[in-house]
Amino acid sequence: MTSERYAQPASVRWWREDLLKDARAVVVGAGALGNEVVKNLALLGWGTVVLIDFDRVEGGNLGKSVLFTDKDIGRPKAEVARSAAARLNPDCTVVALHGELRTVAGAGLFARMDVAFGCVDNAAARVALGQLAGLAGCLFVDGGLTSWEGAVRLYAPDDTRPCYVCTLTEEDLSDLTLRHSCLAYARRAQYGQGVPTTVLGASAVAALMVQQAVKWIHHDPDALPVRLGEEIRLDLAHDQYARTTLPRREDCWLHPQAASPAAAPDAWARTATDWAGLLGSWRDATNEPDAVLRLPMEINARTTCLACGSTRPVNHVQESTGGPEDGPGRCADCGGRTVPDLSNLVTGDEPWALLSPGDTGFPPWSWVEADPGDTADADTAVHLELPGLPAEPELARLDPRRRG
Ligand SMILES: [Zn+2]
Ligand SMILES: [Zn+2]
Repeated sequence: MTSERYAQPASVRWWREDLLKDARAVVVGAGALGNEVVKNLALLGWGTVVLIDFDRVEGGNLGKSVLFTDKDIGRPKAEVARSAAARLNPDCTVVALHGELRTVAGAGLFARMDVAFGCVDNAAARVALGQLAGLAGCLFVDGGLTSWEGAVRLYAPDDTRPCYVCTLTEEDLSDLTLRHSCLAYARRAQYGQGVPTTVLGASAVAALMVQQAVKWIHHDPDALPVRLGEEIRLDLAHDQYARTTLPRREDCWLHPQAASPAAAPDAWARTATDWAGLLGSWRDATNEPDAVLRLPMEINARTTCLACGSTRPVNHVQESTGGPEDGPGRCADCGGRTVPDLSNLVTGDEPWALLSPGDTGFPPWSWVEADPGDTADADTAVHLELPGLPAEPELARLDPRRRG
């Protein structure tokens, strides 16, 4: 039984309202493009949309963001867009996560989604998103915009096809140097050069992105082709539309491989526990006394001042405070430059080992890798999902999607 709201799309022969209603998407970025994607999803009756953004509404956003009004200035973009989308279509469940991608969403969130929409404006955020979506086996539909051009790229949850990192040039790659953590890089890129965009490009690209996703959830590749591993480019200045196949690099250094988490020890679910407890019960369960956990983000144990040598404990994932001043830290004693002491390995001896994943900045459903020993190669590692549920009840009740 189709309600009046969906009568028109339902008159399309292949349209399945039930599939739309059951569909889940995460939208990363609530700028001009994210606004248009969320608007499209809400109007189509997409069941669940999780919207992630760390930013707040500014006056300059109003001319190209259909979900924001001048009353919203200063409020978190994700929350404003959530309320507006709920007004557009109360059937659509929209959840807002205000914060940086890696600190609000673990790979397990992507494992519960059908599609991840990239509505971001920098390479570091795309790398992070491609990693999470690829690991969790979730389709990644990436949108990009300049003043007169738009592009949509589809990265399949299938490691035989190109990933985002495969498509980077040598120059891009040297820019994304491993000496910087992803978060530090994201911070720098965020406040580098902005590209002027308009709502025209955003609405055109968002329509293409959502169209691909609607086809994807219908699982009918013969009738409804989804352009996996391709780029669809719109040239709005010369009114041209083109499709190209993206390259796959055999030596891609960050090519994600889809994984399914192994069953965690029962103790993980029974007790809200700290890193040392999680590691201990994994060691007991596997009879591997030297096992270690490898984390998807680095924890800063302490900062040390390069000038006076004073140290300050941090014991937390490094987070951006969201401003251009958020560069290298300064010493509280002498004003000298400080350096962090970063690690993503849990051996049980870390100063933060007696804190919980949440206390150290890891979101619910983060995936960690467990190795028999810290010299083991990555092939023997298994992925484990950390215990704990998201605070949002609409998220907490979602089961992982069965893939394949
Ligand atoms: Zn790759
Ligand atoms: Zn100092």
